[in-house]
Amino acid sequence: MWFRRDLRVDDHPALAAAASRGDAVALWVADPALLGSPHHRAPMRLRFLRQCLEALDGALAERGVRLVVREGDPARVVREVAAEAGADLVHVTDDVTPYSRRRDEQVAGALAGAGVAMRAVGGPWRVEPDAVAGSKGEGYLVFTPFFRAWDQVPLAERIPPPASLSGPDLPSDGLDVLPHGDPPIPAGPDAARARLEEFIRSGAVDRYAEGRDLMAEDGTSHLSADLRMGVLSPAQVGRAIGGSHGNAPSRAAFWRQLAWRDFYAHHMARHPHVAAAALKPSFREIAWDDDPTLLAAWREGRTGFPLCDAGMRQMRATGWMHNRARMVAASVLVKDLLIDWRRGESEFMRGLVDGDPANNNGGWQWTAGTGTDAAPYFRVFNPILQAKRFDPTGAYVRRWVPELAQVPDRFIHEPWKMDDETQRAAGCVIGRDYPAPVVEHALRRNEAIARYKDADARFAARMEAAA
Ligand SMILES: Cc1cc2nc3c(=O)[nH]c(=O)nc-3n(C[C@H](O)[C@H](O)[C@H](O)COP(=O)(O)OP(=O)(O)OC[C@H]3O[C@@H](n4cnc5c(N)ncnc54)[C@H](O)[C@@H]3O)c2cc1C
Repeated sequence: MWFRRDLRVDDHPALAAAASRGDAVALWVADPALLGSPHHRAPMRLRFLRQCLEALDGALAERGVRLVVREGDPARVVREVAAEAGADLVHVTDDVTPYSRRRDEQVAGALAGAGVAMRAVGGPWRVEPDAVAGSKGEGYLVFTPFFRAWDQVPLAERIPPPASLSGPDLPSDGLDVLPHGDPPIPAGPDAARARLEEFIRSGAVDRYAEGRDLMAEDGTSHLSADLRMGVLSPAQVGRAIGGSHGNAPSRAAFWRQLAWRDFYAHHMARHPHVAAAALKPSFREIAWDDDPTLLAAWREGRTGFPLCDAGMRQMRATGWMHNRARMVAASVLVKDLLIDWRRGESEFMRGLVDGDPANNNGGWQWTAGTGTDAAPYFRVFNPILQAKRFDPTGAYVRRWVPELAQVPDRFIHEPWKMDDETQRAAGCVIGRDYPAPVVEHALRRNEAIARYKDADARFAARMEAAA
């Protein structure tokens, strides 16, 4: 059983299948291509991953085997471990990123050369990307019809963890390839289960429909990193909230939100090029500014747009950012600073504990207006109005941007409008303690729309010339 992003023993179809055949070896590969890639050099996520792997090792040890960790190219390592174990079959949980598809083909090829088969059983989603394929098998580009089909797929029954496991005791390289230290939130199935139970017990799940957008309230589940690493399966989450049918509106809203994960995986499986470029060809050549000074201001939470800065600082401090803040921060980068969404996508991958190639790419392309089911490019988030609506008292901004803590409510989202005396009284002199906005939203909004329009027109002209 080769574990990847399915780091649990409960409700694990591939592990159950492997265990049902007799002896098994539990393997995790420290893949230098992944751990060394700029997208994955994310210290907080790697510390979280390490704790998840330690917890997995503990759960396996209770059942009779230890986790074997080996470092190296998976095509070589998996073949070697299969040979050492005398295995005839390697089980995995499926994955859909272009990298994992390529890697799995290479591993399957290497194994086949040694007479060993590789079998994917289940995936990290509630519904497999191909299980909801549309009436003609063409897949979905729009979320709502995807959701309708997804919702019809019954919630799978729980697969209990294997009571015991046995297999050869192979040497392990250990986990020192991953950074030591506490992750920002406790990791592993027990911690994930505790988060899920608290989300339900506290009633947050039953207030989710209204609470999920209010940034100062912790109204969401915080399960994204658990789902990312597969310490919790989405079916476990679904069963805990009572599934979809007959749900109260808030539970139904949460259920629907879970479907976005599967939607973006479904989308990446069918359109792997989105990992590197805009889904919409006309938006692959937008004339970005990519100003490094503005990029640094955005990254460090110094744009002068308080909500955007609060979100970026929340991510730097905790490895997590509220969904609404993610949308606003992404929109500011793309539509106000005119920086290529792919730079923001990389920054998020390095900063987020839940950094997930499909969800992150989907979120960025949605916000940039270049992807599936995207907001039309001319509908640009106003970071000030968003802040007034979803952080009405400014509590979220005050928490993450302490230099604004004493700013009166009516200026909290537009602190540059304070007169000199109010600035002094609030202990926040604009330009000294906190920046004025680095760009003017109204002007940049128009400029962004013009550049999208221009890219669209150039593409249309090229298509016409080619026809
Ligand atoms: C620009 C941008 C980048 C994002 N990057 C990521 C990412 O790298 N990893 C990631 O897991 N999510 C990403 N999201 C989606 C969303 O912001 C997070 O899943 C959510 O904030 C996590 O918090 P939660 O677990 O409390 O969510 P809840 O609101 O409690 O939702 C429950 C679960 O549903 C899934 N989910 C919820 N909303 C979305 C969504 N819009 N898209 C996909 N899945 C969703 C997540 O697995 C989440 O844990 C991104 C969104 C945007 C706008």
